[in-house]
Order: sequence, then structure tokens, then C-alpha cells
Amino acid sequence: MADILEVKHLKKYFDVSAGTLHAVDDLNFHIEEGTTLGVVGESGCGKSTLGRVLIHLLESTDGQILYKGEDITRVNSKRLTQLRHDMQIIFQDPFASLNPRMTIYQTIAEPMQIAGGYSKQQINENVYKMMDTVGLARRLANAYPHELDGGRRQRIGIARALVMDPKFVVCDEPVSALDVSIQAQIINLLLDIQEERKITYVFITHDLMVVKYISDKIMVMYLGQMVEFADNDELFAAPTHPYTQALLSAVPQPDIHKKTERIIMKGEIKSPIDPGPGCRFAARCPYAKDICRQESPALRETKPGHIVACHFAGEL
Ligand code: SF4
Repeated sequence: MADILEVKHLKKYFDVSAGTLHAVDDLNFHIEEGTTLGVVGESGCGKSTLGRVLIHLLESTDGQILYKGEDITRVNSKRLTQLRHDMQIIFQDPFASLNPRMTIYQTIAEPMQIAGGYSKQQINENVYKMMDTVGLARRLANAYPHELDGGRRQRIGIARALVMDPKFVVCDEPVSALDVSIQAQIINLLLDIQEERKITYVFITHDLMVVKYISDKIMVMYLGQMVEFADNDELFAAPTHPYTQALLSAVPQPDIHKKTERIIMKGEIKSPIDPGPGCRFAARCPYAKDICRQESPALRETKPGHIVACHFAGEL
């Protein structure tokens, strides 16, 4: 399968009063068309910022984002409007991201109206088709978001994101605010839509079970950097970075006879403001040695397609 997106040395920094916040710091990865890349990490690791930079809601500080081979990091407003058709985002909190004064029909239709070039009939057809696809009854077209439950509100968010038939969608914690039973429905809906429309997803979450269920490949982020990247099965079978090992040790095992020892991360989280050299996980890593505090570990391929940023990858 061809790559739909390739990211090279991508950086997003913010100037803050205490210095420069390294939210996304030198990321390199690629995504194959029609697949899902899961991005996992604790809150504040930069995963949501990454999602917004990928679809141009935030401008990058440095590096390249190649979309179907075209560098889209610096594009004019005309090209940006065209890209909006192809690249969309589904937000975490459907209630906060929906305008309470707009009906469901208006909410789903709005991206097409803003983009322009669609007739009333086309908009009508697309909106009702999308409502069918995401399982919203057509009789709800004139309802307002507050009249619906969380699951239905997220279905509106999905319909709005997909109404212009995008090829690349960032899903930013799309089920975190929902009850567990509704989470499964929404995830299965996203998978069905992906199968039907061959969409590529970047699925951002802090929930490892969700990322395992939905992803083809997984990137683990820590303080703005990629610390591990592998196929889904490989990452869960052989987590190699100490941070990934600690995250996975906290996941409940379906087999009650299988005992895993939970790794408790101790120590201060390093500040992402001017973090300086050395491994950013060193203060919390049980295996840290002097070199870890002095030199940033390079990314190394420990097995084909399995990339880890640790001085002692494969030895721990
Ligand atoms: Fe731990 Fe050192 Fe590896 Fe960082 S480089 S994860 S501190 S062993």
C-alpha cells in the first residue's frame, strides 16, 4: 500500500513566558493509505498538538508533512481550502465542539457551505446520506445537540467531519468522553466507515485497549517525542521502550491466571520547556544510567519496522 502521509523532522514549538515549549519535537513517520495509526501517550505528551499540525489547524515550526507526496507545510489559502475536503478532525468532546444554536442538519451541512461549490440539492443529499451512515434518524435533523445523548452527539461530530468525503481523518480522543458501552459502538462505526470509504485515520488516545482494537500501527509519544513505533501485534507482544513497558503493565489482563507485574513510574516528569539534552524519560526510568542524562537516544530499528528511542533498546 502506498503512503498517504509522510512526516519528516516535524516540530511544533510554542513560545511561553518561561522559554520554548517543545510540544512536538522532531517526529518522523509515515502512514499507509487506508490504515490506522494509533498515537498513544499520557496527557501533555503532544499527541493532540500533533493531530492539529497534521491537518493544518496549527502551523508547524519546522519539518515537512508530505500528503500524497506534496509538502503541505506551507500552502496558500486556496490550497488550504482544497485540503479541508481531504483532511478532517473528529474532536474529543462532541458537546463542546458543536454549536448549541445550530440544528443537526445545519451542523453537518456547514463544512460544505463554507467550502462552497455545492448546490442545495447536493448538500441535502450528502447530509441525509451521512446521517444514515452514522446511524442518526432523519427525523432528528431539526433537533439541537442538547436534546441528544453523548453517543448521538459524537455521531454528529463524525458526520460533520466526513460529509465532504475526506481521505485522511484525525480522531482526537473521540470516545474518551463516552460511556464504555457507547465507546464500542462509536469505534465499530469508525471501523465500518473506514472499510467502506478507505479512509486513513490517525487515532489519538491515552487508552491502550482502544488503540489496540483500532490501530494497524502504533506510535508511543513521550514529551513531544516518538519513543516507540511498531505494528500493533508486535508492540503488545514485545514492548521495548521502558515507558511503553510501564504503560502496558497497567493494562488489565483478560486472562486472570496470567500475572503481569505492574511497573510504577516514579520520579518527576521533565518539563517540556527547553528540555535540553538527554533522554526525556530518564527521571522516571528504572534503568537510567549516566549516559541517559547526557545524550538523547537516537531512534533504532530493533526488528524490521520496530523503532525504539532508548540507549539500551533490546537489552532491557
Ligand atoms: Fe531509560 Fe536510558 Fe532508555 Fe531513556 S535511554 S528509556 S533513561 S534506559
